Amino acid sequence: MPGLDEFELIERFFNRPKADPAVEIGIGDDAAVIHAEGRLALATDTLVGGIHFPPELEPRAIGHRALAVNLSDLAAMGAEPRWALLALTLPSAEADWLEAFAAGFFALADRYGVALIGGDSTRGPLSVTVELIGTVPTPPLRRGAGQAGDEVWVTGTLGDAAGGLAALAGAATGSSAEALVHRFAYPEPRVAFGVALASVAHAAIDVSDGLVADLGHICEASGLGVEIDVARLPLSPALAGSAAPERARDYALTGGDDYELCFTAAAADGERIERLAADRSTPVTRIGRLTSARGVRCLLDGQPVPLAAAGFRHF
Ligand code: ADP
Ligand code: MG
Repeated sequence: MPGLDEFELIERFFNRPKADPAVEIGIGDDAAVIHAEGRLALATDTLVGGIHFPPELEPRAIGHRALAVNLSDLAAMGAEPRWALLALTLPSAEADWLEAFAAGFFALADRYGVALIGGDSTRGPLSVTVELIGTVPTPPLRRGAGQAGDEVWVTGTLGDAAGGLAALAGAATGSSAEALVHRFAYPEPRVAFGVALASVAHAAIDVSDGLVADLGHICEASGLGVEIDVARLPLSPALAGSAAPERARDYALTGGDDYELCFTAAAADGERIERLAADRSTPVTRIGRLTSARGVRCLLDGQPVPLAAAGFRHF
């Protein structure tokens, strides 16, 4: 790599004293070795510059996001994150960029007790892949475990990241635009709530491609359909204040990158869910019901809502 030498780069930015006794061998050998007991959850996600984020996005946000999207996948399984591997492809090794990237990555890793135990560093077009390993304390949450009549819930607010991406592209300014851009750049995965949810929810997924697309996966896997009450979709003041109502609704239904959790549970467990959520300062909203009739139906005052797009697909 131009700039820093590859080994200098690993030593300086990524090899930190290991504090996790379960890690027998971390960065520095041919492979990491960990002591693990019981069920493990494993996920990997790649963020490609120009596809998943504008390449000029601040490096601190890229480091944060690369880990956050994987934390969100584990949260949607009810898993506790523990160990990460980081495969980094960079056009060049610039110390300032790497320092900010590592600061974003480790601030989030430290918050959730995740140890970086290995990775790979290569030269090429900007691309960041994280592999995340976690433990699964209770039976995992699955997409296919929805039951007809379940209430459908989401955490937080929807559509903000899509609004943020639009603001970035259109260079919108103002405090609402800034708040939305921040939601895109620094998503907050629902780690603690995901783990708590595993004891009560039926099906779960994280909202990465857009609510309609992701809820569609729960429906397909569960052999069911869903009715979404569009009037109940949780919108942030920043989104409601900066986009026309139809646009805000479209972002909430089909925009991706929010990394909230969408889950289903028996109607009788509604109060339990509200308590679990309140204990973890996680806002939750009931947005609809699973039905035995297949398909995703979005209803506003009982009328079907036409959708602008159907979630992001790479191919
Ligand atoms: P190898 O040639 O055996 O693949 P590398 O030279 O790629 O080994 O990596 C040396 C060590 O540094 C390995 O332990 C690897 O896991 C770790 N490593 C490489 N790049 C990174 C990175 N970006 N973040 C964390 N660990 C890394
Ligand atoms: Mg290697």
